[in-house]
Amino acid sequence: MGLSKDAKSFTKITLDESEMPTQWYNIIPDLPSPPPPPLHPGTHQPVGPADLAPLFPMDLIMQEVSTDSYIDIPGEVLDVYRTWRPSPLFRARRLEKLLDTPARIYYKYEGVSPAGSHKTNTSVPQAYYNKKAGIKKITTETGAGQWGTALAFACSLFDLECEVWQVGGSYDAKPYRRLMMEVFGANVHRSPSQLTEAGRKLALDPKNHSGSLGIAISEAVEAAVTDPTVAYALGSVLNHVLMHQTIIGEEALKQLAKVGETPDLLVGCTGGGSNFAGLSFPFIREKLKGKMNPEIRAVEPASCPSLTRGKYAYDFGDTAGMTPLMKMHTLGHDFIPDPIHAGGLRYHGMAPLISHIYELGMMTAESVGQKECFAAAVQFARTEGIVPAPEPTHAIAVAIAEALKAKETGEEKVILTALCGHGHFDLAAYDAFLNGNMVDSAINEKDFEAALAALPVM
Ligand SMILES: *Cc1c(COP(=O)(O)O)cnc(C)c1O
Repeated sequence: MGLSKDAKSFTKITLDESEMPTQWYNIIPDLPSPPPPPLHPGTHQPVGPADLAPLFPMDLIMQEVSTDSYIDIPGEVLDVYRTWRPSPLFRARRLEKLLDTPARIYYKYEGVSPAGSHKTNTSVPQAYYNKKAGIKKITTETGAGQWGTALAFACSLFDLECEVWQVGGSYDAKPYRRLMMEVFGANVHRSPSQLTEAGRKLALDPKNHSGSLGIAISEAVEAAVTDPTVAYALGSVLNHVLMHQTIIGEEALKQLAKVGETPDLLVGCTGGGSNFAGLSFPFIREKLKGKMNPEIRAVEPASCPSLTRGKYAYDFGDTAGMTPLMKMHTLGHDFIPDPIHAGGLRYHGMAPLISHIYELGMMTAESVGQKECFAAAVQFARTEGIVPAPEPTHAIAVAIAEALKAKETGEEKVILTALCGHGHFDLAAYDAFLNGNMVDSAINEKDFEAALAALPVM
């Protein structure tokens, strides 16, 4: 698309408070077919709202299964969103200059939230609906700590207790994230813990000592199902979580329209898939309407490549096998990825909705090693002034690679990415990179084979 006069003069594209979207977008009714339903682990029958009631408040369950295209964001949630939203969209002018590329790179910055990542877009509504349903406490898992921080913040606003099981490796390596959760009032445990049956059992196997998201989910779910005043919250993967994040893409659409741009490539990092879905789903809607034609590309770590290497199969969301079975690209629920720095991308599966869209051929995916990611992140930090969280460095690496390709072809490619969080608590990762101590770990093929062999028999 042509570069408008306005696009030439803008670096930071903002929206007024009054332009903030007031609805979340549900992509499911616009897809050629709906995603396969989650199944009950015992009966293998589709789970209904009643099956999910011990875990989630009914408002969220109805969003999970909704076939409405749009859902109004409650006023109480909009009030909280307004403290940092609409978030800015930047054009990466100095990075473009460094790369000497004709491509134009835009990034939607979610690190301006109180927790420093996009996760507050869903933690706030989740806390709100739980409070409304009379819940007293929310349990959850967290990897690097971004989700736990976002939920602890939201619970503090709505006067709810918050109990977090943090993946052991991250708990040990990132004390500042734990402290931040504690400042917001959360009670944080190292997972696997001795507080749950799942934790006690899984802790017996030494390979589980550094923990995983799957193990931490098992612990948090167990703690929630045993008490009716306690609910569980998930920071990614589920339909309602992805939907809450669509405010990112809805804002970005308006911001790009302001400067007369349409993207040729959308690129985002995928752990469970929520920031990627949040940015891309509104653009996929526009693409389906024939209004634009961007390629939509997910980037995942080489050591946890669920979309590019995983099997599209029904699997558990957690390690102990307590959740419903979800059809997704999975490395196997007891696959433990190497402890890379992008802790938020170490989940064994991919959101069922993204897995389905990938199967439909509506998006592409690739995996990147962490050294390439951090090399890109340092280039980005030194030109744009923001230190990215380790997770979005994956998207930045691909954005840079594509901008360099555009230099060869002379293409004025418009690239859009979500810079979904800052890396202020991840400086140890940058330390490892800058001192040459970072290693690229590939997927362990033997463990991967074993984990696939342990997929539930359907
Ligand atoms: C949690 C997190 C991720 C991974 O989760 P998605 O659901 O895939 O977005 C990526 N980046 C940041 C900054 C996160 O906090």
